[in-house]
Amino acid sequence: MDVERVDFLIVGGGMAGASAAYELAAHGSVAVLERESQPGYHSTGRSAALYTQTYGHPVVRALTVASWDFYTNPPDGFSEHPLLTPRGVLLIGRADQTAALDRDFAEGRRLTPTVERLDRAETLARAPFLNPDYVDGAVWEPEAMDMDVHAIHSGYLRGLKARGGRLVTDAGVTALERRDGLWIASTPAGDFAAPVLVNAAGAWADVLAGMAGARAVGLVPKRRTAITFDPVFADPADGAGLAGWPMTIDVDERFYMKPESGRLLLSPADETPVEPCDVQPEELDIAVAIDRMEQAVRFSVRRITHKWAGLRSFVADKVMVAGYDESVDGFFWLAGQGGYGIQTAPAMGRTAAALATGRGLPPEVAALGVRAEDLAPARLRRP
Ligand SMILES: Cc1cc2nc3c(=O)[nH]c(=O)nc-3n(C[C@H](O)[C@H](O)[C@H](O)COP(=O)(O)OP(=O)(O)OC[C@H]3O[C@@H](n4cnc5c(N)ncnc54)[C@H](O)[C@@H]3O)c2cc1C
Repeated sequence: MDVERVDFLIVGGGMAGASAAYELAAHGSVAVLERESQPGYHSTGRSAALYTQTYGHPVVRALTVASWDFYTNPPDGFSEHPLLTPRGVLLIGRADQTAALDRDFAEGRRLTPTVERLDRAETLARAPFLNPDYVDGAVWEPEAMDMDVHAIHSGYLRGLKARGGRLVTDAGVTALERRDGLWIASTPAGDFAAPVLVNAAGAWADVLAGMAGARAVGLVPKRRTAITFDPVFADPADGAGLAGWPMTIDVDERFYMKPESGRLLLSPADETPVEPCDVQPEELDIAVAIDRMEQAVRFSVRRITHKWAGLRSFVADKVMVAGYDESVDGFFWLAGQGGYGIQTAPAMGRTAAALATGRGLPPEVAALGVRAEDLAPARLRRP
């Protein structure tokens, strides 16, 4: 069989693979190999689509901040729609969660000075749908945004094509071999070869590493459940302006909800470790989400309109993995995007392309204090 030869082979056509492919296509020929018929079928198509600068490890926060300029000012022709639209996040807490609110406020405003600490009255003024007997205060992040995940993902894939690269679907990599300085990837859509292989296989990144003879980084895929539902209000006036409500998150991340196409999206913020798979929601997680939310709000769930689950895959320190494997030649990791893979994609795509082509971290990422060793797979193998 013929082998298609490119400069960079990328395994995985989700947000990680698409963003890195777009950036790498400026430096050489690129083919993205995706197992599914639809490249956003797994985590990328199942997210809550929120951009928040106050979430996660400081390195994750820096990469989120470093993605802001791309999202608010994308390259010409990248998308016909705005990639971000205002939403705002309200981290809420009961009286017994005051310390957590104070901690999140202090951490949040270090990188994002517009973050505010609200008392009970200010919280209820901003979110009259909350139960006044439950909530005691909040942290308000006005610049948190909804992301148009489809527009971002398809913008990257269209841009890849415009730069001469290509996405091959139904092309699950079943075997990898290193021969004469090239990776040969076997897929049902044919064989592909390149000196550099980028592992953007999401929850399957350690599985792919196994095919290449690279040591695992200890990736743990964690199931997260979500539903959309129609709310029912004791007083219908309470539902006014629902589309403009902020995303509301329990400060200890026990549930979150946000408006979604005229309805509400709700998640119990579950993190159940599972094997990589086409993950499905569990009824118990849905019941837990509804119970936690109904304690905190002045409405209830009338009808569930959609339910799903997706995988958020983490390594031990919950920071992404980007860099060449230290022992296997030409094998580049781009994994462990956890719950932040969409909001950090512009910075991570650029970072992956810069490191894979030996240029060091992009200046805008380094300027925020991120070091290559914070992302390198080698950090996960020290005793
Ligand atoms: C419920 C939920 C809410 C979330 N909310 C947010 C949020 O608000 N903001 C945010 O930024 N992030 C959020 N995330 C996280 C975000 O969705 C992920 O971090 C991101 O989608 C990961 O992208 P990825 O490309 O690494 O993975 P994926 O989208 O899963 O892509 C990996 C791809 O690799 C392919 N693949 C695997 N093995 C092979 C192989 N051998 N050959 C070929 N292809 C292969 C798979 O088919 C898959 O398409 C959320 C996730 C979930 C589940």
